[in-house]
Amino acid sequence: MKKPAIFFDRDNTLIACDGYLGDPAAVRLIPGAAAAIARAHDLGFAVITFSNQSGVARGLFDETALVAVNEKMAQLLLQENRRAKIDRNEFCPFHPEATIEKYRKDSDLRKPKPGMILSAAAALDLDLRVSWIVGDAPRDIEAGYAAGCRTILVSNPALSPSPATLQPSSVDPDETVSSLGEAIEVIAATADEDDEPAQISNPGVEGELARIEHLLQRLLDQVRRQSEHPADFSLGKMLAGVTQILAIALAVGSYFYKPVGEPLMPMLVAIFLQILTISLLVMGREK
Ligand SMILES: [Mg+2]
Repeated sequence: MKKPAIFFDRDNTLIACDGYLGDPAAVRLIPGAAAAIARAHDLGFAVITFSNQSGVARGLFDETALVAVNEKMAQLLLQENRRAKIDRNEFCPFHPEATIEKYRKDSDLRKPKPGMILSAAAALDLDLRVSWIVGDAPRDIEAGYAAGCRTILVSNPALSPSPATLQPSSVDPDETVSSLGEAIEVIAATADEDDEPAQISNPGVEGELARIEHLLQRLLDQVRRQSEHPADFSLGKMLAGVTQILAIALAVGSYFYKPVGEPLMPMLVAIFLQILTISLLVMGREK
């Protein structure tokens, strides 16, 4: 069975860093990081970090130093809480304008692209639909949204913002909080809601109804999220979906139940609806 995960951004989310960090001795945990990771495990989540590290591409430090920083972070977390274990560290050393040629490329791993999340999901068999992204910058949220995860922006007033934090965003987070403790409580509350149908012991009609209600609620949540981003949702697309369903229903219906008198009429209407669907989609793309 696929496992849910929480993807934590590293810099200025788990450790204090508003620039580049290649020195393990300079690693400082953000207060609450170890407790949040331990709680994530208690809730049944795998814990992954995902971090753009263009300092490698810029020649400021090498991958060995980057791994040493991650190891120091892991050591400090476990010192503070024995259950604060990181299952996997993902990082992107590439940058389109790297000074070191082997790192110069527009990598799919680099946030806001979702490559690091997808890579971890493949390696650990993760269910991204019930996974979370927790980060301090818009690009963390955009990467999480692109991967189909739920997202939390941690806007910690005690930290000086990094340049990435100040970038404009095309995606709103599902939640905005001011600490890692608040973030993990949002996740815990949602995990409780997700588990509700599973607590019903009767697998009969009542259980099926609860399951359908739960699925509908998730569907409504998804529609609500999409409607908050007009680029992804439009009336035209919704109408196209409706006409597509009608077209398929008519085509299938006329195949099994041949109408007397005008046998071709339902198929002609189905073809008309299919053309209408394509027209609506094309009109939607030209916006
Ligand atoms: Mg960050």
